[in-house]
Amino acid sequence: MAFPVSPDHALVLFSGGQDSATCLAWALDRYTHVETIGFRYGQRHAVELTCRDPLRDSLRTPRLGADHMIDLTATIAGLGATAMTSDAEIVMTAEGLPSTFVPGRNLLFLTCAASLAFRRGIKRIVAGVCETDYSGYPDCRDDTVKAMQLALNLGMNRRFVLETPLMWRDKAATWELARSLGGDALVEAIRVESHSCYLGDRTHLHDWGYGCGTCPACELRADGWKRWRAEG
Ligand code: ZN
Repeated sequence: MAFPVSPDHALVLFSGGQDSATCLAWALDRYTHVETIGFRYGQRHAVELTCRDPLRDSLRTPRLGADHMIDLTATIAGLGATAMTSDAEIVMTAEGLPSTFVPGRNLLFLTCAASLAFRRGIKRIVAGVCETDYSGYPDCRDDTVKAMQLALNLGMNRRFVLETPLMWRDKAATWELARSLGGDALVEAIRVESHSCYLGDRTHLHDWGYGCGTCPACELRADGWKRWRAEG
């Protein structure tokens, strides 16, 4: 069976959060055909998944292709609990990692994305991981992604390119990237329609978007917004 590879086609890991929404806009600006992949894994903030369709509609251009939803709930649950997939309190562990860390989650996501990209003839896989102001997740690091690209290319006999446009941008720079790609309209769409809050709060609208305002994801997002606005 032949799977021809299109160098200008991209698959974006699209959760419905600020980072992945910005990555989708970035990919639509660059590549002729862009598909999205999302994962259900029992995340406590599954409300982010309900943000995906409205966000896709807001960002839609003729280049936007199919969306793929992959259910990993049983897989992740079978491996044991974390604060990301249960009601456990979000705390810092002795290792310096938040208890929301699902070990290897991004490695699993990238592997699934590459397996789908193989079937779809897509060369580029875009992920909104970031080493600059992240939550300490080791599978967001640039070295991890580079190693994954090598492993996936060897293991699937392909030349995938893993693209991480946010790797060296902090949250303020991520807002600026959105503005440079789509102006105030894109910033507003991402502000109102994307979701970051770990507690799934969609009832409180702040100037930086919806959220509880106090969980680590909200703090990061609010801080980035404030710094971006201050930089003007
Ligand atoms: Zn929150």
